[in-house]
Amino acid sequence: MNMMLVLPWYLFWGAISVLCIVAIIRFALGLPVTGGKVCPECKSRVFKEAKVCRFCQHKFDDNSG
Ligand SMILES: [Zn+2]
Repeated sequence: MNMMLVLPWYLFWGAISVLCIVAIIRFALGLPVTGGKVCPECKSRVFKEAKVCRFCQHKFDDNSG
């Protein structure tokens, strides 16, 4: 096997594996995997419908984000 041909595939599947593991961990923790919004105070991703950040209790305005 030529390493120059194999290496990109390792990187490709490695990246996909990491994304899958992160998604599984976030799902297991009850965090939104995609979508949602980022809290401006603590930069944590919370559900789009959230009115209060679950991490720092920052209150979201209904109009923004
Ligand atoms: Zn927060």
